[in-house]
Amino acid sequence: MNHEPLTDQLDRPCKDLRISVTNRCQFRCRYCLPAEHVDVMRAQSAPENNLSFEEITASVAAFAAIGVTKVRLTGGEPLLRKNLKHLIRDIKAIDGIEDIALTTNGALLPPVLDDLIAAGLDRITISLDAIDDDLFKEITGTKHTAKEILDVIELCNQSSIKQVKINTVVQKGVNEHQVLPILDHFRNSRVVVRFIEFMDVGNINKWQEAKVLPSAEVLKIIEKHADFESKTPTSKGEVAKRYGFSDGSGEFGMISSISQPFCSDCNRARLSSDGQVFTCLFTAQGHDLKPLLNQPKELNDFVKDIWQQRDDQYSAQRHNETKTQLPKIEMFVMGG
Ligand code: SAM
Ligand code: SF4
Ligand code: SF4
Repeated sequence: MNHEPLTDQLDRPCKDLRISVTNRCQFRCRYCLPAEHVDVMRAQSAPENNLSFEEITASVAAFAAIGVTKVRLTGGEPLLRKNLKHLIRDIKAIDGIEDIALTTNGALLPPVLDDLIAAGLDRITISLDAIDDDLFKEITGTKHTAKEILDVIELCNQSSIKQVKINTVVQKGVNEHQVLPILDHFRNSRVVVRFIEFMDVGNINKWQEAKVLPSAEVLKIIEKHADFESKTPTSKGEVAKRYGFSDGSGEFGMISSISQPFCSDCNRARLSSDGQVFTCLFTAQGHDLKPLLNQPKELNDFVKDIWQQRDDQYSAQRHNETKTQLPKIEMFVMGG
């Protein structure tokens, strides 16, 4: 199929679709879904509102037609949806889709990992903000231990999955002392850690700029410990800046959405579990695909139109007074 190259108002193509397959999550990470606000998740996560796998597949086909080649399944916690392997298999069969990834907290992964890989899952990202068990429990608001998730990551490392990454959100005064232990744990393995700046997504995580540890500070912590060099990006639109240890013992990345916004190359669309398309992590308003999911031609036209109208660049304009003051969409709804 010859996909029509299509760009938005800022000349950005649409390459990457992130799909939240459920708003629900069994973790209560303080920067995403703090336990005291769990009612917000419950109010927004009625399973009957979830798109079926067929509806998600139809949506992906419309995005593939405007140039999407990569799909990431996320949430909430995507592994709370049963039989994700069927969805992966169906998405992989869509013309134009080359790569499927999963972002997960990892807790439910071991029994299904092999099936997901067999179905066509190419890459996996597991979130891990601390290696210290007490801190891990505190940040995630669960009884799961860091050791348990480290074992899951090792299972992925030993598996045939093509790539394993770790997402570590660094919050000032909370877990910066975990940066080196986490890096050291994965050195000399193929697992790539990416340190993410705490973002002002959503309304319930009490985000404050004072809690952001800029990537430059994280790099200073690492600098005192090991030599590294920056690496060339593998593709345009890659959100993480990549660094390689000078002794060849691996690489790590920095995702600096607060201190170094990357809106000018942002080629991502997001689909929520109830069928809303969001063209930016920080938009307050989605575009509802549901009424068109049984009408492929109209669906294709609508998706094309959404992308062509897109002019979002929230991070680049974060400090601009004129930015939207509407309540933002929560991360577990939008899909991280
Ligand atoms: N539940 C899965 C997980 O945690 O991996 C997938 C969904 S989660 C919303 C996706 C990613 O978003 C996670 O790596 C999480 O750490 C990150 N995240 C959530 N809230 C964030 C925030 N306010 N700033 C930066 N990253 C955030
Ligand atoms: Fe759940 Fe992921 Fe949000 Fe943590 S970051 S509460 S695991 S959706
Ligand atoms: Fe993309 Fe919006 Fe993030 Fe900018 S702020 S990089 S447009 S999601």
